[in-house]
Amino acid sequence: MAEKMLQFVRLQQRQPDKRDASARRADWDEVYRPYVAEAAAQQASRCSQCGVPFCQVHCPLNNNIPDWLKLTAEGRLEEAYEVAAATNTFPEICGRICPQDRLCEGNCVIEKGFESVTIGAVEQYITDTAWEKGWVKPPRPVRPRDGSIGIIGAGPAGMAAAERLHVMGYRVTIYDRHDRAGGLMIYGIPNFKLEKEVVLRRHEQYVEGGIRFELNTAIGRDVTLGELRRKHDAVLVATGVYKARDIDVPGAALPGVVAALDFLIASNRKGLGDSVPDFDSGALNAEGRHVVVVGGGDTAMDCVRTAVRQGAASVTCLYRRDRANMPGSMREVKNAEEEGVRFEWLAAPEAFLGKGAVAAVRAQRMHLGLADATGRQQVEPIAGAEFEVKADLVIKALGFDPEDLPAAFNEPALPVTRWGTLKVDHRTMMTALPGVFAAGDIVRGASLVVWGIRDGRDVAEQIHHYIEARGAAPAIAAE
Ligand code: FAD
Ligand code: SF4
Ligand code: SF4
Repeated sequence: MAEKMLQFVRLQQRQPDKRDASARRADWDEVYRPYVAEAAAQQASRCSQCGVPFCQVHCPLNNNIPDWLKLTAEGRLEEAYEVAAATNTFPEICGRICPQDRLCEGNCVIEKGFESVTIGAVEQYITDTAWEKGWVKPPRPVRPRDGSIGIIGAGPAGMAAAERLHVMGYRVTIYDRHDRAGGLMIYGIPNFKLEKEVVLRRHEQYVEGGIRFELNTAIGRDVTLGELRRKHDAVLVATGVYKARDIDVPGAALPGVVAALDFLIASNRKGLGDSVPDFDSGALNAEGRHVVVVGGGDTAMDCVRTAVRQGAASVTCLYRRDRANMPGSMREVKNAEEEGVRFEWLAAPEAFLGKGAVAAVRAQRMHLGLADATGRQQVEPIAGAEFEVKADLVIKALGFDPEDLPAAFNEPALPVTRWGTLKVDHRTMMTALPGVFAAGDIVRGASLVVWGIRDGRDVAEQIHHYIEARGAAPAIAAE
């Protein structure tokens, strides 16, 4: 089945088939059907093997994309997997949920005129095949080393750092306040984008490989940061960002107005078979309800599509800018439209109306005015242009800010930026507390899984340098 490269002139781009919208609405399975071997090889063979591969430059992990595409086209999948896994801790996850249109594929040189190589789908195919064939092995240390690392947060940043440090030979313990590992990959992102089994099997392999997990353990509540610092030679803070941005309008406190992540966590937990009283009581369940989601990012798209699958009577998304200026991925907007979501562009909530519980949203029509200093057009209200949307469940999806970590950890010496993210030395990734490092969304602000992985891998290297430089010095002391 070996394919020659540069086939983009002959072969059309073919993304994996999408399941029909009516079938998608009725279940929680992933939307795209995986490639079969022949389609993956053919699509990989469209790559023109650029001397300067812009796809690679624009991948946050600098994945060696042309090499694994060539190996896939030649049917050498085990080698393709090894190349893909050399730079990416979770290639099967990135292949599924990276916004490729803004990253690798959006910068593929054949995009102009021929449509890009389907890089993400091939990456997923390679790694799903590797799992099927048993090529993905639990991480094992090359040789044991002195040094114990405590990681707070089992999201992509914490997990990626843990894997690297464990393979280097350090003793690694990950602490997470949740009962499952994966961070937002398990409790934020819905099953129809990323099946939970894909995340859970990674966790199982890490446990098998010898990485320790202390779940149901919130640092700051159950254990202090000081205790962790005394116990470990270095500590990594990879706690993500979770404080929901609020909407300050009349009626915001009415029952039936809920935060996006509460809604998504309840839905994901239900899908995982947990007992979720707030879901069963109806408080966080869209079934039979008129749902309005406020916001235009990926979280908003996940909420509207979750509400559709829960059997909502209607789902409307209110966004204050237009379609072209949405922060969410265009692919997800299109999927949502196909699944029956109604979009009200250039509309912002003015009040949530209702007696005893929310019953409607009064919205204000907006228009895009002059650009501000950042070059982004300002949104301005159109006087007198208001309308109402029926809503007995309103989901606020306006983004996330960091929690007050110095207060939560009772560590006033932990410096933060004016946005509340942790301040680190960008060379060493260490905070002002010696031996305390930070990575992922808690440093960047709300970002992407692929950047979490990149930061996790980078910080592992920095922690290693730090421990090597300390030599046989005693474990770090709490201040
Ligand atoms: P997280 O994944 O947030 O993990 C942090 C972990 O730290 C959590 O498990 C948390 O329980 C734990 N923790 C926090 N505080 C404590 C404490 N005090 N003690 C112990 N444990 C603690 N990105 C994409 O690339 N593609 C997408 O399609 C996508 N969709 C998204 C959809 C939603 C709804 C959301 C909210 C985000 C989405 N993202 C997506 C963004 C992506 O999930 C995050 O950027 C990424 O997970 C950040 O990784 P992280 O490791 O920094 O933090
Ligand atoms: Fe593209 Fe993401 Fe894979 Fe990089 S990790 S090649 S950006 S899908
Ligand atoms: Fe292949 Fe496109 Fe990358 Fe060039 S930019 S190496 S054509 S995937």
